[in-house]
Amino acid sequence: MQMPPSRDLTKSNAQFQRAIKRLPLGVASTFRYWGDDRTIYAHHGKGGRTWDIDGNNYVDYRLGYGPAILGYADDRVDAAAMRGMQVGGVFALSTERELIVADRIAKMVPAAELVRFSNSGTEAVMAALRLARAYTGRERYLLVEGGYHGLFDAAMWMANLEDWDAGSNRDPEVVSYGKGVPQTVKQLAHLVPMNDFQRLEDTFRRHGSTMAAMLIEPIQGNCCGITAKVEYVQLARRLCDEYGVLLIIDEVKTGFRVGKGGVQGIMGVRPDITTFAKAVANGYPIALVAGREEVMRTFRYGGASHGGTYTAHSVSLAAAEECLRILDETPALDTLAAYGERLKAGISQILDARKIVHSYTGHSSMFGLFFAKEAPDNYRAWKTSDYSFYDRMAYHLHDLCIIVEPDSREPWFMCEAHGLDDTCLTDTLKAVELAVDLTLEQDAAAAE
Ligand code: PMP
Repeated sequence: MQMPPSRDLTKSNAQFQRAIKRLPLGVASTFRYWGDDRTIYAHHGKGGRTWDIDGNNYVDYRLGYGPAILGYADDRVDAAAMRGMQVGGVFALSTERELIVADRIAKMVPAAELVRFSNSGTEAVMAALRLARAYTGRERYLLVEGGYHGLFDAAMWMANLEDWDAGSNRDPEVVSYGKGVPQTVKQLAHLVPMNDFQRLEDTFRRHGSTMAAMLIEPIQGNCCGITAKVEYVQLARRLCDEYGVLLIIDEVKTGFRVGKGGVQGIMGVRPDITTFAKAVANGYPIALVAGREEVMRTFRYGGASHGGTYTAHSVSLAAAEECLRILDETPALDTLAAYGERLKAGISQILDARKIVHSYTGHSSMFGLFFAKEAPDNYRAWKTSDYSFYDRMAYHLHDLCIIVEPDSREPWFMCEAHGLDDTCLTDTLKAVELAVDLTLEQDAAAAE
């Protein structure tokens, strides 16, 4: 097969060479570095597409890791943000709009009886854990392997699958995400593999009385969309109640995406505390920590601290009001989920025609693609799928102007604009077909 003409990255490459002199790795967030000659500098986004500074036009399934739920530069939300700009930013005072937005959130998510605003997912989850500790007077907490809750010390513990033998009955080692995280913090963290009912019960039996919280993403937004069984989340709820532990459902990625009421609405499990961020304001920086009234009232003088200079910024708040209105009152979420279904069906047709075994996880609004018959039901099982095929296919997809995360653990994100622009689907499927064939051809050449 002839290699298709590769996109031109001349300007991005030149920008990288300039940027590396001033910005570590030439970027503002480490995950945006894709190699010295493959790091893309965005020019602008509109709808489901992103244009880079060379003029390449990509169908974008990263969507900034999920925030652009309606699509980039949505006219409705941007007009609201402009009105928010007239308000004046931040005052170190409250505004009326905070209550309007909080009322909308409480309507959409019944567990959000009371609401506080934050600026990022990290900040919201950090506040949620502090709140749980303040409320319970305990310090330990439970994480689920494959979960991600942001870049703060307490959340930066993961199962190291790099050096783990899937055939052994040994647990993977718990390591920090990178360096600089104090080892002393680790003593307070416990990790369990998702969907292992027995391990969950055992862990609560041993540590439940000293744990403040269990943090869970029932659909793991940073691990292919691997999904907890409803019964597993129900068991977590029961055990939390039994041991006086607060259940924190982290919906930073799933919130206002998989459904109006998030994954907790789909599963019918009510957390004590819940966090949201990405889709709240279609990309304007705002996050939420919300929950049960009695718990949330621990945010007070002499209780748990919460605040911040930029909290409930007038631009983000106005954008949130409009974005949540659209998500609540229009079929936007149905549109993007239906698009995800069509996309999966199209990809499957291509893969089936080539007898490539595959499966999907997550929700049609954020799904993971696996090259294994059964989709994994926890992070350890992910290791058994052929993610190297995925990684190579993703590499070709970038050259063919489709943006997906180069790492198979990041799901593909849909936005309303994808569903309203048929060229997104046709362009994507054309590129997927080519990317799959290029990957197969490489495999065949390597086998010779
Ligand atoms: N929780 C979850 C579930 C997330 O997916 C993320 C970000 N990917 C965070 C927390 C942290 O959010 P942020 O990047 O906005 O700090």
